[in-house]
Order: sequence, then C-alpha cells, then structure tokens
Amino acid sequence: MTDSAPESWSITQAAELYGLDRWGTPFFGLNRSGEVVVQADLPEGTGAVSLKELATGLRQRGHDLPVLLRIENLLDSRIRLLNTTFEKAIRELGYCGQYRGVFPIKVNQQAQVIEEICRFGQAFHHGLEAGSKAELLLALAHLPEDSLLILNGTKDRDYIDLGLWGQQLGLPVFFVIESPNELDLLLERSRTLEIEPQIGVRMKVSARVGGLWTETSGDRSSFGLSIQQILGVVETLTQANRLHCLTLLHCHLGSQIPHLNDIEAGVREASRVYADLARLGAPMGYLDLGGGLAVDYTGFRHNHVHSRDYDLPDYCRTLVRTVGQTLDDAAVEHPHLITESGRATVAHTSVLIFDILDVMHFEPGNLPCPEEVPPSLHCLAERIARIDEEAPEDLIREAFICRDQLRQQHLQGQLSLAERGQAEDLFLALIQRLTQKLEGLTDPPKLLHDLKQRLSDIYYGNFSVFQSLPDTWAIDQIFPVMPLHRLDEQPTREGILADLTCDCDGKLDLFITGKGERASLPLHPLKTGEDYLLGVFLMGAYQETLGDLHNLFGDTHVVNIRITGDGEFDLLQEVEGDSVGEVLQSVEYDLKQLNNTFRSRAEAAVRKGQLSPSQRQTLVQAYQNGLQGYTYFKR
Ligand SMILES: *Cc1c(COP(=O)(O)O)cnc(C)c1O
Repeated sequence: MTDSAPESWSITQAAELYGLDRWGTPFFGLNRSGEVVVQADLPEGTGAVSLKELATGLRQRGHDLPVLLRIENLLDSRIRLLNTTFEKAIRELGYCGQYRGVFPIKVNQQAQVIEEICRFGQAFHHGLEAGSKAELLLALAHLPEDSLLILNGTKDRDYIDLGLWGQQLGLPVFFVIESPNELDLLLERSRTLEIEPQIGVRMKVSARVGGLWTETSGDRSSFGLSIQQILGVVETLTQANRLHCLTLLHCHLGSQIPHLNDIEAGVREASRVYADLARLGAPMGYLDLGGGLAVDYTGFRHNHVHSRDYDLPDYCRTLVRTVGQTLDDAAVEHPHLITESGRATVAHTSVLIFDILDVMHFEPGNLPCPEEVPPSLHCLAERIARIDEEAPEDLIREAFICRDQLRQQHLQGQLSLAERGQAEDLFLALIQRLTQKLEGLTDPPKLLHDLKQRLSDIYYGNFSVFQSLPDTWAIDQIFPVMPLHRLDEQPTREGILADLTCDCDGKLDLFITGKGERASLPLHPLKTGEDYLLGVFLMGAYQETLGDLHNLFGDTHVVNIRITGDGEFDLLQEVEGDSVGEVLQSVEYDLKQLNNTFRSRAEAAVRKGQLSPSQRQTLVQAYQNGLQGYTYFKR
C-alpha cells in the first residue's frame, strides 16, 4: 500500500511534523491507517471519526468538495470547559461572585451555531452578546431564560425599544452605554415605555495589549467611554434619579491577546474603576471583561500573535484573582464575572475540507551535456560547475544576474526560445543542487530557506481563500493545514497552496508545523485516480460571515455533524452552498435575462448554420445546468 514510504516512517512522526499533537489535542488525532480523526467525549468514552471517511461519505450523499464541516460535540466541549474552568478557579480562590459567560454573536452568526450555543449552554446559563439590531433580534428569539443578554454597539430607538421589551419578557438584558448620547435616548425611551433598564458602561482601558487586534485598547480606541465621560454618565443618572440602574462595567481589550500579563493589567484597571463606581453609590454587581481569550493556533504556547503564553486555567485564575484582590483592597463586594469569549468558544468546531486538483513542480528538465551548452549560457553552466568552490551567497547572486541578463536578451530577440528554456532549466538546476548541498550541512545558512521556497511545488486546491479563510489575506492570520490521509506515508514533497481564484493573494504560503512556522508544507505526491484531501483546522471564528465572492466563488456546502459513537456520526444539517445562479443574482444579474440572451445567441447560430437545432438544445441545457451548479470545481 505504501510502496514509496521508507519503513522507518510512523504516524507519530506525522503528528509531530504537522504539529497535530500541539494544536490538535484533544480534538484531533491520527488513526492507525494514517488518517486524521476528530475525537469527541461521549458517555461511553471517546468516539473517533476519520475526516477522510467522512468526506467520502458526504460525497456519496451528493456533497461535492469543498465542504465546511461543523462538529457540534467540539462546540459543546468548549462551552463546558470554559464554564467549569471558571467555576473551579472561583471555588479554589474563594471568590464570592459567579461566572456568567456570554457568546458574542458577531464571531459566528450562523443559525446552527447560535442555536447550539443556546441549547447546550442553557445548563451553564451561557448567554449572548449582541452588537447590532439584527443580532439583538435573533438573541430575543433564542436566548434561554436566566442567561444574560449584553447589548453593545450603537443603539438607535428601535434597538433600545426591542431591548427594553426583552427585559419586559423577563430576560436579564444589560444596555452597555458606549457613547454619551445613547444614555439620553435610553432614559427617554425607558420613561416612555415605563420599563427600567439595567445599565452598563463600557470603559476605554488605557493599558495596551499586544497582538494583531490592538486597536480596541488604549486611550485612542474608538470604543468605550473615557473616565471623564463615565463620570458624566454617573452625573446624568444621578440627576435623573436612575443611579440604581447602573449595575455593570464593561471593557474589551481586544481579540487573540497573546500575553497574559497584558490581560492582567487591563483587568486590574477595570476592577479599580468598578470599585470606584461602587463607591460612588451605583449598585453594580457585574463586571464584564469582554473577549480576548486567545486560541493557540500554532500549539507553541508562547507570546506570539498566533499563540498565547497561557492556557485556559491560567486565564480563569488570573481574572478571578486580579478582580478579587483589587476589590478586597477597596473593600467592595466581589461582582459576578462575565466574559465574552468568542474565538476560543467556536474556533475548534469547524474544519474546511478540500481536494487538490493539480500540482505544478519547479524542477529542471533535461540539461544539455556540458559540451553542448551554447556559449550564451556559459555563465550559468559555469556556476553549476563551481558549486563547491564559491560561497553560496555569491554564487546565487551571480546566477540571478546571469538569468536576468539572459531574459533581457530573449526580450531583445538575441536568444531563441529554446535557449531561454535551457537557461531557466540551468538556473533551477543550480538552485536544486545548491539546496541539496546546503541541506547536508549541520548548520545550514538562512539562504536555504529562500532556495527551498523557490523550488516548492504549487498544489492547486479546490477552495477560495477569500470565501473560506478571509483572515489569512486580510490580516495574515494562519490556520493549521494538513493532509487528512496518507499520514502513514512520509510526505516527500514541499508545496504551497493556491486556490481557484485568479488572484495572487489567493494562496496559503505560511504554515504551522511541529517545528514552527514554515513557508512550505510537507505534502505527498498525487496518485492518479486517487483524491488527495486537505483540511484547514480551527477556523470556526470570524471566517464564515466575512467571506467575499472573489471571482464569484460562493459559500461552500456546510454540514453539521454530531459524533455518536466510535466511527459513527449523525448528519444534523446539510446546507447547500451557493449555486452559480445565486452568486450571479447577488451581484444583480437577472437569471431569466441571462438565459434568454444566451438562447437568442444560440438561435442566431442555428440560423447561420453554425449549430443544429438539437445541438442548440444541448447547449441551452448545459447553460442552465451551469447556473444551477456549485461554484467550485466538480469532479
Ligand atoms: C469581538 C468582540 C468580542 C469577542 O472577542 P474574542 O477575542 O473573539 O473572544 C467580545 N466582546 C466584544 C465587545 C467584541 O467586540
């Protein structure tokens, strides 16, 4: 079966190579046939399902790749873990308040995700955070009773009225004031509707945090109120005889915060302001510390934008301890703690599965014998001959100059196309031999990395970065990517991944491996007649609603599953991806008109004798099928 694999290769090495044992634990692992499995906690033990088999099963049911797979068990596990870890920290540190988690809807607004969070989270009173009217409307329908609803974002009259009615329905709603004007409107609507709101204030935290999303913290952050403005809110509430409505302080330091000390500094500042508000006479009771709990995308657990230097127990203990200590010092009662963890709640639940369509290699063709190299190409051939004599850096620099001069000569008509082809081959041969030579060294120079990148294959994947992984091009987010099978076989190629769009940004060229980030991914050579499937992991947060229709590639199919036993799963929901017609309609094309225009064109061809009437029928049918089909590559 694994004819080319050396005997020594084991799946343990594969797990190390791709870092699966770092970023994947405990949800993803390998089975003995070298396939990636998703693992779920079940009452009777762990249930494992191979993603390759799952993809095959989905295909048999008519779902082409790419497909976005959501595994509900993983979402449940994360909610349970978040709540129980906070509860444990609260117990161990003797903290007097409770933990109340809320899920910020913007992180994944998909109906199945929100419904599952509300269903499973009910036992933990896990609530929702809404930042817009649309999010508020869906929360009002789904939120379980006794779970908190935190209302952030800019609020107009309709938003405020809906929130007040939510409170009238018995839901614990908190209006978080983000701008001074909002408060006047809220007080006015509350008087008119005769419903008293629970009010929170969002503070700007002056402590700055590291990471890719730092703009939400610091004095100049566009979110939240300054200390002066918070004092203004207290003043307004006092004058309106409504200070007793102020029950919550909110802050949000940013997302994916890598460094625990940064979080601690922000939490200390917020706790201090909380204590001050309590001492100014507000009843308070809730401290909402926002999001920021990071996902360890690399699995290295260090202070780096794609990782974090803490784990969940560290995070929970730090929050609970810092708030507890600050309030003890100020002699103020401990509040209930709220966090709005989005990324850390949903990232693990989704995996994008796609197939590889083709590979492009960068390897020299047959080189001419040395005596047959035309004189014009001697400069390159000589460099190859001197490979052991010159410093590699010098050799490469000179080779680039030679190659570029030769390209120039070809442009000016002084070099034939055949010679140009030989020049490119000689250049690649030089890089290849130099790479082999440097790889043998115990301490290879930095140059090797660059050379390897020039030789790495391009694997063409059946997906769109812009649709499925928008953060990879928008903000250089990286997600773990690896083959879903053949992991009992040593990968012998190095490649980057290009998507289906005709855009130079439509690629993945930075990867997570067990040794750190890398510019190419170890991959297997394609086998004819056999699929090669890859998965992108930890992509459940922020990707699904940002996706855009680059080159008119639409939404992928989405399939929700629940693992029910070892090797067994239920298909809970299958959502068809966009058809070509739907995507065209979304950019305002009229399908009827497109159809008619195409029909007329085909009819004109019949009149001119270019097409028979029955050929026209075939063509018209194919056009219609095309409009109904999937936007991705169909096997
Ligand atoms: C985006 C956002 C969050 C979610 O942050 P994560 O880092 O994904 O947990 C929480 N609260 C507010 C106010 C937000 O804007």
